[in-house]
Amino acid sequence: MPGPADTAPLPTDDARIADVLSRWWGFDTLRPLQADALRAALAGRDSLVVLPTGGGKSLCYQLPPLVDGATDVVISPLVALMKDQVDALEAIGYPAAAIHGALEASERARVRDRLIAGDLRLLFVAPERLVNTGLLDILARAGVRRFAVDEAHCISQWGHDFRPEYRQLALLRERFPHASIHAFTATATPRVRDDIATQLGLRDPAVLVGTFDRPNLVYRVVPRTDRAGQVEAILGRHRGEASIVYCISRKETERLAARLAGAGLLAQPYHAGLDATRRHRTQEAFARETIDVVVATVAFGMGIDRSDVRLVLHTALPKSLEAYQQETGRAGRDGLAAECLLLYSSADVFSWEALVRKSAAESDLDADEQETLVRSQIEHLHAMRRYAQAARCRHAALSEYFGQRYDAPTCGACDVCLGETSSLPDGTVTAQKIVSCVARVGGRFGVRHVAEVLRGARTEGVARHRHEELSTFGLLADLDQRAVENLVHQLLDQELLSRTGGDRPVVTLNDRSWELLRGAREVVLLEPRAARVRATRAEADDWEGVDRDLLERLRRWRRRVAEARGKPAWTIFDDKSLRSIARDRPASPAALLRCRGIGEKRLADFGAAILDIVAGREQADA
Ligand code: ADP
Ligand code: ZN
Repeated sequence: MPGPADTAPLPTDDARIADVLSRWWGFDTLRPLQADALRAALAGRDSLVVLPTGGGKSLCYQLPPLVDGATDVVISPLVALMKDQVDALEAIGYPAAAIHGALEASERARVRDRLIAGDLRLLFVAPERLVNTGLLDILARAGVRRFAVDEAHCISQWGHDFRPEYRQLALLRERFPHASIHAFTATATPRVRDDIATQLGLRDPAVLVGTFDRPNLVYRVVPRTDRAGQVEAILGRHRGEASIVYCISRKETERLAARLAGAGLLAQPYHAGLDATRRHRTQEAFARETIDVVVATVAFGMGIDRSDVRLVLHTALPKSLEAYQQETGRAGRDGLAAECLLLYSSADVFSWEALVRKSAAESDLDADEQETLVRSQIEHLHAMRRYAQAARCRHAALSEYFGQRYDAPTCGACDVCLGETSSLPDGTVTAQKIVSCVARVGGRFGVRHVAEVLRGARTEGVARHRHEELSTFGLLADLDQRAVENLVHQLLDQELLSRTGGDRPVVTLNDRSWELLRGAREVVLLEPRAARVRATRAEADDWEGVDRDLLERLRRWRRRVAEARGKPAWTIFDDKSLRSIARDRPASPAALLRCRGIGEKRLADFGAAILDIVAGREQADA
């Protein structure tokens, strides 16, 4: 059995890896852990590679067969994901194909022929295809010696995306005792990791766990006061850029998308209730850059491989930090700066709690199991809430949650470290006004009514209860309804007020409220409006020296090529590569070859066209 010594750097392997990397991909360096993963693969040693989304896992299974001329198999859960990868590989001249249920019999036969003839370096297969169709025999005939299992956490029921068909992959070890198996995932918990190794029967695997921090992402949490208005303003900072806006309800996605479209943005809704054709059209339009914004429920995301997403905006609280990490992971996969913004209101915590209890009660589980399920989900929810509320570095908070230390004193890429969050000058006094209003209305009213009284609104409810006569009526008359509601929620978050459960929750006092009223507590309240956003270091660096006009022309050209070929734009060229060209302004093929993302194939296909664009010789737009 191979030990660690066998995967020690072999200079020849490393030299060949470097050669393939630059000739095919046009990249000059490997990312951390990629080198180790590649060496393990080439040495035929099993591996378990844990890297965050965007960390560069695909290269770890794409590159080895080019080095040793093998035919490798990748098991991948989603057809859309496979198709995109095959497209991207074909763009660099890489012989790859996919076998999935959507193929015609004749296409399938052709892939089989190529496989047996040894013409393929990579074959993508869906797990259910692999075990049920006699494909294993063909793979044996083709002499396959390496299997990569992508999204390997799907094999574990402790993971967040268990897929029963993945369990059958245990068969690989039996059928191919001499092949090596390489598992890839972005899920880091030790329990899931161990489960993957056991289920796949990995033998002394090289376990490679990357850092989970994504330094190019800027995290912000902004109090939610006016959802639609805030979303519109935030998207205004990202005009013409790929953005994903997450909502909880389907109706909300449609309403918001319609409003954004009305404001002139290229936006479409996406949720599981739309018919398949419509969903597919939206996904394609996003991939081909004919729309910029998708307003979606969490049903959108898996299989979205657009690497230049510049904004992931959550309009409501996700139910766990795992979910948040995964959804925000779709931003900035090209390594360029991208923003992840969460509009937070503690009202979401209450809605989620109610939902968690309701769905547990409606499940088939027995009382004990329901209890366990509710407890675990509420724990996840509260970890998410603490993240949103804490006035502490978001990068540090996320890293620590995922079990990794974050040592930098400031990240330079979150609202807290950038000093964007500002607190009310008189937080304690404002808090006292709110709490005494709750005391005056007798703890029998919800957030909205309390806020109406505080800002002095003459609503029907206020009149009915004669609350305009209270001494607290109009104490916060200079704020609007949403701002006051937001402040009440901040007090609920800090447990300076309580709230009952049920359908019509009311706000009540607790021990801490009384301490506050007695003057025994200081309170910090955040300014309940969107903070002014500052530019980050990473954003500035990404644009350093980039000729923006040239970049725009290159992007237009890319869109035309993508349309003509019917392929997603990023598979033609990713943004980082276009920026590298727009920065270096290469004047010769040799100079172009030095730009990121330009290998021999792309040089041959597009070199002349690109050099023309750089030199300003391209045809005017048709
Ligand atoms: P993952 O599968 O881990 O989510 P990907 O494999 O899709 O991540 O890689 C994310 C991005 O990083 C892609 O745009 C890819 O081209 C780029 N990338 C990967 N490895 C390198 C490298 N060594 N040098 C430059 N870019 C890389
Ligand atoms: Zn920070």
